[in-house]
Amino acid sequence: MNLYPLALRLDGRRVLVVGGGAVATRRVPALLAAGALVDVVAPELTPALRAHADAGRLTWQSRRFEPSDLDGAWLVQVAVDDPAAAEQVSAAAQERRVFCVRADDRAAATAWTPAVTRHGPVTVAVTDDGDRRRALAVRDFVAAALEATPAAEPATIPGLHSVFGRGLAQVGGHVALVGAGPGDPELITVKGRRLLAQADVVVADRLVPGMLLGELRPEVEFVDAAKIPYGPSAAQEEINRILVERALEGRFVVRLKGGDPFVFGRGGEEVLACVKAGVPVTVVPGVTSSIAAPALAGIPVTHRGVAHEFAVVSGHVPPDDPQSLVNWGALARLQGTLVVLMGLKNLPRITERLLVEGKPADTPAAVVQEGSTDAQRVLRGTLGSIAASTAEAGIRPPAVVVIGDVVATLA
Ligand code: SAH
Repeated sequence: MNLYPLALRLDGRRVLVVGGGAVATRRVPALLAAGALVDVVAPELTPALRAHADAGRLTWQSRRFEPSDLDGAWLVQVAVDDPAAAEQVSAAAQERRVFCVRADDRAAATAWTPAVTRHGPVTVAVTDDGDRRRALAVRDFVAAALEATPAAEPATIPGLHSVFGRGLAQVGGHVALVGAGPGDPELITVKGRRLLAQADVVVADRLVPGMLLGELRPEVEFVDAAKIPYGPSAAQEEINRILVERALEGRFVVRLKGGDPFVFGRGGEEVLACVKAGVPVTVVPGVTSSIAAPALAGIPVTHRGVAHEFAVVSGHVPPDDPQSLVNWGALARLQGTLVVLMGLKNLPRITERLLVEGKPADTPAAVVQEGSTDAQRVLRGTLGSIAASTAEAGIRPPAVVVIGDVVATLA
């Protein structure tokens, strides 16, 4: 049988879905994403479908199918397992010349859904002549190839929108601030990885997973921000200058940062520098070490009945320093979890201050060094003991300190 491939424009067009179970739950999101007006007919809905109905994203008739449900529909998806019920829908669809996709019996359907992979504006659909597994394997193969292939036209980056909501499809140069995650190269987001593969210039921090950089194309200009030979604030100005200058030359600059770009990453300053220079800039959030490093040490930053809040603070300025913007007294009274970044050097002064402010010395505490990497180390203790044992164990940066009852919850 020769299939005739088509791409349907469903925006504003009615699509009927018969059935409200697991199959419908998987099929409905793509229909909604295509802008279809989805009507579901089913006695019951899964919670996920119910959420779509409650939010008004689809309409739901809570009953069994009637042939008149097909009136006005361009397409019907049959997602019921009862063959007799499915056959009834098929027959009614046939009569009305409405294409019918059947989850229960492909041979009885008049349309098949292909195996699909989407990459920005490119959608690849793989059909098959009955061997669905083969189509899925081809789809996965193509998806992997697209993942690794830079955009043919670097000035057009699919799916990129500036932080101010303007689409960036047609602009010349621009900057993306991409969170690289805490260290494990697999903990970058799918979007971050795709943009990295399309970059003309990559400006990376010290804490960025080296493995990600190994994948860059040889012609990509690589700027190691850690090697910029000035003091911290001059270095930041130099980074801003590099970002803006390269983007104004029409290049796509990825500013790759450890963790999340806006968690002690100075991402805000770089956004401002770009905006000031008229350079479009977008932010791709990342997995922050402040949550991920504790998580990978078995410490949930919140836990029901234990911690209903968590605070992430920087410890790079000591508590008694007039420059400090942290209210350590309030943090000492915090019932929830305290996560301290950049706090190793000042750990003795930080714990001392929390104790003085009344936080109990037996509060569970832990230090997680190089979370998510092969070098990850975890040290557990209490607020009273953790500073000394950290020094003794030779824990080195980067490390997060976690203080609160959650440290002992799963231990
Ligand atoms: N933007 C980053 C934080 C930058 S500040 C993020 O969201 O993760 C740098 C601090 O982050 C380090 O001093 C350390 O406290 C923490 N950090 C970063 N990576 C870490 C890791 N893999 N394990 C433990 N702590 C880490």
